[in-house]
Amino acid sequence: MSDHADYWKRQALAQRDAYLETLRPFLAINSIEDMSTAGPGKPFGDGVARALDFMLALGRSDGFAVKNLDGYAGYVEYGESEEEVGVLVHVDVVTAGDGWTTPPFEPHIRDGKIYARGAIDDKGPALAAYFALRLLKQSGLPLAKRVRLIIGTDEESGWLCMKHYAEQETLPEIGFSPDASFPMIHAEKGQINPTLTLAAQPETAAAAGWRLLSFVSGDQGNSVPDKAAASVAVPAGAEAETAVAAVTKRWDAFLHASRVTGRLEQRASGVLSFQLDGKPAHGMEPFNGVNAGTLLARFLHDTPFAGSDREFLRFLAEVLHEDHYGERMNVACRDDVSGALTVNAGILRYDGSTGGSVRLNIRYPATLQPEPYVERLKARVEELGWTVSDLRTSKSHYVPADHPVIRTLSRVYEQHIGEPARLLASGGATYAKTLKAGVAFGPVFPGKESTAHLADEYAEIDDLLRAMAIYAQAMYELAK
Ligand SMILES: [Zn+2]
Repeated sequence: MSDHADYWKRQALAQRDAYLETLRPFLAINSIEDMSTAGPGKPFGDGVARALDFMLALGRSDGFAVKNLDGYAGYVEYGESEEEVGVLVHVDVVTAGDGWTTPPFEPHIRDGKIYARGAIDDKGPALAAYFALRLLKQSGLPLAKRVRLIIGTDEESGWLCMKHYAEQETLPEIGFSPDASFPMIHAEKGQINPTLTLAAQPETAAAAGWRLLSFVSGDQGNSVPDKAAASVAVPAGAEAETAVAAVTKRWDAFLHASRVTGRLEQRASGVLSFQLDGKPAHGMEPFNGVNAGTLLARFLHDTPFAGSDREFLRFLAEVLHEDHYGERMNVACRDDVSGALTVNAGILRYDGSTGGSVRLNIRYPATLQPEPYVERLKARVEELGWTVSDLRTSKSHYVPADHPVIRTLSRVYEQHIGEPARLLASGGATYAKTLKAGVAFGPVFPGKESTAHLADEYAEIDDLLRAMAIYAQAMYELAK
């Protein structure tokens, strides 16, 4: 009986009212990281601390073992066995932004959907997992392993919560994280994040021709820049006016051909100011955006700049522009599980007197090791006259399809949904990668849109209850 989906479905559906009654006040806590209210026991501020306390208080009142790890993380645990199954959720949320129909921290239900920041990422699923754990406890079924619901508080920023957890406790080897998509993500790309720099060449400033005074585009490595701005000094002398007229004409044609918008202004001092709009996208999918920075460089590169002005634009225009798969950077590679390496040029800066810098976000295939690509990147960057001034890598994550955790979760999913559990790969990282054999498991069902990080974030209530049933059975099957 108990290993039948129907049992857990019935149990979860019966929780509907209680779940919503608990979810509303939980979503109403503004748990955006706020360092201005940070202090001992609340390293990410008041709101995050209150959201963590909310879940721990719930666990305590239901008779679970709970622990608060200095406000960085916490857990609610069921069972006393030596071996452990981990379920990883987080209570912090991203900033609200504009464009909400109803306020982001006043949950509203419309058409069977609950709208609030955190509804789908990740408070709704976190609470569904908590209710699942409670259903498991209420079932009284014997278990061979403990189940620990691990609650993080810094998932949307620096993952310091998991770092702190790993210092204080031992992370479980197996488990899942309800913080992405169903059926499950078993492969996550790794990252190489280098900053490349180009020294300014003093002779550039002395030249009488065109000069690139400044160039600014993007402010996050892992996003495609949707804005770019550049200031350009026009050569002094008799031909200046003709040159400006020619550039203006070419600019209009360029905007038209590139199907983007932009603005060009001439300042009295003989300085042209360019602004270009691209299309934003997540850095793991650079091909879905239009990089305003490299596109603007492509336009400017046709103008006869000299020295480091020219080298900066050349690198952006001839190497980085639309090099989504790192072919021109000489790092292209792929695997069957997670696809091709991707390159995003997220932060692009130039100053005529100090030089240029580019922050790249490279995501390499899950089954490969980063070292050979780091070496190739360094060689290529040097060959181009740039320097790698800072480089951070983060590991990829991969659980083979025949691993018992995947086989178990696939079977549970199939029993509930009636469709094969197709394994997914992601360019992004989830908490699952902190577990040796962990996968991201829900909450967004195939074919449903994910509104995580968007205005009017919502979760379908029926889907959250479906997820609750799946999580309850999954916890049981992994722990029995
Ligand atoms: Zn999340």
